[in-house]
Amino acid sequence: MTVPRRRIGILGGTFDPPHLAHLVLATNARHDLRLDEVMFVPAGDPYRKAGRDVAPPEARLRMIRAAVADLPWATVNTIEIERDGPTYTTDTLEALTAGSDDEWWFILGMDALADLPHWKEPGRIVELARLGLALRPGLIDHLEIPAATLEAVPDIEEHIDRIEMPLLEISSTDIRERIRHGGPTDYLMPDSVRAVIEELGIYAS
Ligand code: NAP
Repeated sequence: MTVPRRRIGILGGTFDPPHLAHLVLATNARHDLRLDEVMFVPAGDPYRKAGRDVAPPEARLRMIRAAVADLPWATVNTIEIERDGPTYTTDTLEALTAGSDDEWWFILGMDALADLPHWKEPGRIVELARLGLALRPGLIDHLEIPAATLEAVPDIEEHIDRIEMPLLEISSTDIRERIRHGGPTDYLMPDSVRAVIEELGIYAS
């Protein structure tokens, strides 16, 4: 008897901090791509964020673990935190998919798709996994791939599966600003994540 291939979506992120839009994205990816598992992979050294302070990897790991603790279909993988040097998605996909019979997606939003030409070996990324791209309901049938992304990976559209995502203007940047100024963050992220932030005293200054 053949075992069905598992369908796994990798949601990579800086998660500084993780918030409800990350969880809504994971939920919609799971539904639209019929995933068995969404694997959250916090970046060890998100080098594209150089120039601003990023919370230590251990703190971001604790926050993402707290965020998904109640989700039976979610896992957290520490591969990028354990690896030295700048975090490259290609290296992660090479390691996770090697020898695997599972089907893999890398889940991302439009900003990440636009940034893809600056990533290491973008063409290799789509050889290793399909892309699950989050799009707003109004844009789901009107995908416009940025010119630079098309130049880097001309056949990229063939590698994309669309994920319908409500427009949620929640961002880690805004949450960090709110905490810095003593503003409310209720309902923007799980209370379990807020508790970790409070315990570690991050973002306050
Ligand atoms: P992030 O800010 O924590 O976001 C993680 C994901 O959630 C992104 O795809 C982002 O989409 C999405 N997201 C966040 N807020 C959202 C909202 N309100 N509505 C819809 N989607 C939302 O992480 P990141 O720093 O962008 O990194 C994403 C991944 O790219 C990580 O795995 C990182 O390692 C990888 N990366 C790789 C390279 C490389 O290989 N060279 C370089 C840079 C980044 P958006 O794209 O729309 O923000």
